[in-house]
Amino acid sequence: MVRDQIESRGISDPRVLEAMRAVPRHRFLADDARASAYDDTPLPIGSHQTISQPYIVAYMTAALELQGREKVLEIGTGSGYQTSVLACLSRAVYSVERIPELANRARENLRELEIDNAEVIVGDGSVGLPDKAPFDAILVTAGTPILPDPLLEQLAPSGRLIAPVGGRGVQELELCTRIPSGIERRRMISVVFVPLIGKYGWEKE
Ligand code: SAM
Repeated sequence: MVRDQIESRGISDPRVLEAMRAVPRHRFLADDARASAYDDTPLPIGSHQTISQPYIVAYMTAALELQGREKVLEIGTGSGYQTSVLACLSRAVYSVERIPELANRARENLRELEIDNAEVIVGDGSVGLPDKAPFDAILVTAGTPILPDPLLEQLAPSGRLIAPVGGRGVQELELCTRIPSGIERRRMISVVFVPLIGKYGWEKE
């Protein structure tokens, strides 16, 4: 998976590649989906949600340029797979999921893999997590019509945020960096994510 789907598409950060090798994607899937765990595709995880395509997980993670000391906020825990990759590369991860059943399963997945620097919180992640802010990096794993202001406000100086922004059908990954004069925004690649449902996202599924 790492060689054929990730390195071959230009992701070269050795720490990201190592984390993608280390986290067993099949452990985040139900038994009947495990045979497809290393396929080049998103897969269903229940509650009409998906575990993201491995390449996109690696791409978004690489864009954050994590060095190991960061406090990271993830919006949209899903299965906890992306959370685990982030936990391998940073000091602490706070991950917010709106669907309690998914949050509970993700907590179990993290516990079974003995990942102890990631915490899953149930709530509307479109408002961020003000109690724990600021964050050195923020990763949003659901598509949003606009970049939620609270997330930009919770970004530490020099912090980086990546999020899928656009319509319900297709979005573009936007990479934002907090610079002294404000926020620098850069458009990356087109992607398809499930919707971010919440105060600063879409109103309903
Ligand atoms: N990265 C995840 C993984 O590795 O399994 C997949 C995330 S899935 C594509 C997007 C997740 O965002 C879903 O689990 C969905 O319930 C969640 N979500 C949508 N809106 C949300 C919100 N406002 N706050 C928190 N989570 C939200």
